[in-house]
Amino acid sequence: MSSSFLDSSKANSYLQEYKHKDGLAVEALMDDQLSGGLTYNDFLILPGYINFDARKTSLESRITKKITLNTPFLSSPMDTVTESEMAISMALLGGIGIIHHNCEPEFQANMVRKVKTFENGFIVDAVVLSPRNTVADVQRVKAERGFCGIPITENGALNGKLVGIVTARDIQFHKDDTTLLEDVMSTDLVVAKKGVTLVKANEILRSSKKGKLPIVDEDGRLVSLLSRSDLLKNQNYPLASKSDDSKQLLVGAAIGTRPDDKDRLALLVEAGLDIIVLDSSQGNSIYQLDMVRWIKSTFPKLEVIAGNVVTREQAANLIEAGADGIRIGMGSGSICITQEVMACGRPQATAVYRVSEFCRRFGVPTIADGGIGNVGHIVKALALGASAVMMGGLLAGTTESPGEYFFHEGQRLKRYRGMGSIDAMSIKSKGEGNAATKRYFSEGDAVKVAQGVVGNVLDKGSVRKYASYLITGVQHSLQDIGCQSVNEFHESVYNGSVRFEKRTAAAQMEGGVHGLHSFEKKLFSS
Ligand code: GDP
Ligand code: 5GP
Repeated sequence: MSSSFLDSSKANSYLQEYKHKDGLAVEALMDDQLSGGLTYNDFLILPGYINFDARKTSLESRITKKITLNTPFLSSPMDTVTESEMAISMALLGGIGIIHHNCEPEFQANMVRKVKTFENGFIVDAVVLSPRNTVADVQRVKAERGFCGIPITENGALNGKLVGIVTARDIQFHKDDTTLLEDVMSTDLVVAKKGVTLVKANEILRSSKKGKLPIVDEDGRLVSLLSRSDLLKNQNYPLASKSDDSKQLLVGAAIGTRPDDKDRLALLVEAGLDIIVLDSSQGNSIYQLDMVRWIKSTFPKLEVIAGNVVTREQAANLIEAGADGIRIGMGSGSICITQEVMACGRPQATAVYRVSEFCRRFGVPTIADGGIGNVGHIVKALALGASAVMMGGLLAGTTESPGEYFFHEGQRLKRYRGMGSIDAMSIKSKGEGNAATKRYFSEGDAVKVAQGVVGNVLDKGSVRKYASYLITGVQHSLQDIGCQSVNEFHESVYNGSVRFEKRTAAAQMEGGVHGLHSFEKKLFSS
């Protein structure tokens, strides 16, 4: 009996006897004749060989011709996803935030400026009160924002002359909450001068034994604040996305392709913008091609991500016009009804593969935008050749996304809406149409046709923890696949060593939790 078995010590060499490696090469997986369009859930990646620590896996990836990130994540330019707080956190974690344009140009430029001037540790938008405010005002800040170390300036605003500080101890036993702050504030102030390094400021804070260190300019005007509790947490962000020269955080912003968007862009560039994203649901238009050419000749240093596209033919036009990166996706977003309403679009996995495989030949990186619902989807987008992913719904509902939390049926939620929803298209702004109507070419329409919905998402806590979970998850997945970097992953997919398999509906059921009476799905702990 045993003599009929092959020699087990030569198992690897017997693999050669098979005509094909186990599983499918990517081109066979994507064969349109057989499969039609695929979505991320339609396939799996087969595991490889592990001989390295997941923590050593590099997620470094080029997202435009000139910009490489340590974390290939972008947050969507949507008004319920990316404003400056989200963009700061994304950049600290090694990704980048793309600030939305459903607002006045000056407001958008200010958000860009806020990211560019952010220094980890310094609170640059500190809550400030005036000597004429009362103890009740401090209690209100404490209730709403959770802190009560408040600098007091003459005019009650940042950049006003610093005259005192109120801390928890100053108001702790104060029964009369109508007392003016000038009667309770401390005036023996330890301050540091604007321009002080974080290290030096921390030293002063430590030796002064105070809880807060106000930073003032030459005229004694308050510019920022440092908090001892932050010093103790002293978070480090070794992956942070920074420009080589200024060491400021990188930031992107979105605009449309209308004439007044050129004026908007000038303001954004002045504020220090690194990447501009031309925000259109169908990027293969004469307006966008003209805009790409105009930007490349007017602001040659600015990196331009064009899109959105889902076919090679659309991408070819944008590449020729000079795009530095291509954004892929039409109708795959979680809030999106484009495919339903317009009959136009493409399943996202196929779109990502077809466009990325083409763009790669010209050295143009691609960004898989929309439909990323979990760590596995990120890995699949990268597997299909995307250099990075853009996420809306997955990052909505974090502390750093715009909007207030509210409770509904016992759950803490935040709003998340499509930029093509009637809600988003109804925001008024200067000029012709708003960002949302421009994205869908519907500025002049008497009837607005929605391409998105308004919804709610669950509270996900801080994006700093949530995105860290996504990063670690992707590293572990690449370890399972046996690739130690995104670049190696791309090479191994294109040379056929990473293999794939389609998933039937039954396979998808099997791959999910099943057969339990009930369960709790907790995604991470930290
Ligand atoms: P406090 O002593 O009551 O002011 O609170 P802590 O210093 O313990 O915590 C304040 C936390 O809130 C720190 O992590 C700050 O970075 C953060 N924070 C954000 N904005 C502000 C602000 O405007 N003022 C203060 N004091 N803290 C802020
Ligand atoms: P998500 O990450 O939530 O699946 O998708 C976010 C992406 O959907 C955005 O980056 C953007 O490309 C796209 N998107 C945003 N709003 C709308 C909308 O209202 N309609 C459509 N068709 N796409 C949208």
